[in-house]
Amino acid sequence: MNKGKLIVFSAPSGSGKTTIVKHLLGQEDLNLEFSISAASREPRGEEVHGKDYYFISLEEFKKHIKAEDFLEWEEVYRDNFYGTLKSEIERIWAMGKNVIFDIDVAGGLRIKHKFPEQTLAVFVKPPSVDELKRRLKQRSTESDDKINMRIAKASVELATAPQFDVIIKNYDLAVALEEAHQLVKDFISKK
Ligand code: 5GP
Repeated sequence: MNKGKLIVFSAPSGSGKTTIVKHLLGQEDLNLEFSISAASREPRGEEVHGKDYYFISLEEFKKHIKAEDFLEWEEVYRDNFYGTLKSEIERIWAMGKNVIFDIDVAGGLRIKHKFPEQTLAVFVKPPSVDELKRRLKQRSTESDDKINMRIAKASVELATAPQFDVIIKNYDLAVALEEAHQLVKDFISKK
């Protein structure tokens, strides 16, 4: 099987990494396909099963852990499990495409360690924790409790940034999108 490249985007929730990943998926020259994670949480807003996530029950998720079906998985928030199924990567490589991930920092670093040469691990840095809070509140898809849980985690996640291959500062979205495109383009054109 032709093994494509792995492009990991990790960041605290609200940093804008999902926006960047969606933008890159629209760039045909990059030949990217989104790694759809399994998640044990409920769909939010307009999210679609089999597109944004494979929404499965906690019980089903635990069965996949036992069967060793995951390349990596994390209990990102209490009782909210997220993971990359091995079958997902195989599916994308079989299409002859490169894989792009939108995953948390621990999962991102795990993929980098498993496939060091093939992976570009990118950390997306928000301007500040206050700005993160503002963005999460603006998104208003979650309760204050859940937002506070995400903020608390953000500070811990920000400290892992130096372990990534590159850090993109998302202070100005247009600049961040351009920088991300160039970085991925350079990486996938390397042998
Ligand atoms: P959200 O609930 O906002 O969609 O995602 C919460 C966090 O879980 C985000 O940082 C998201 O990137 C991360 N996440 C999504 N899928 C995966 C996955 O497969 N593995 C890991 N480790 N984290 C994931």
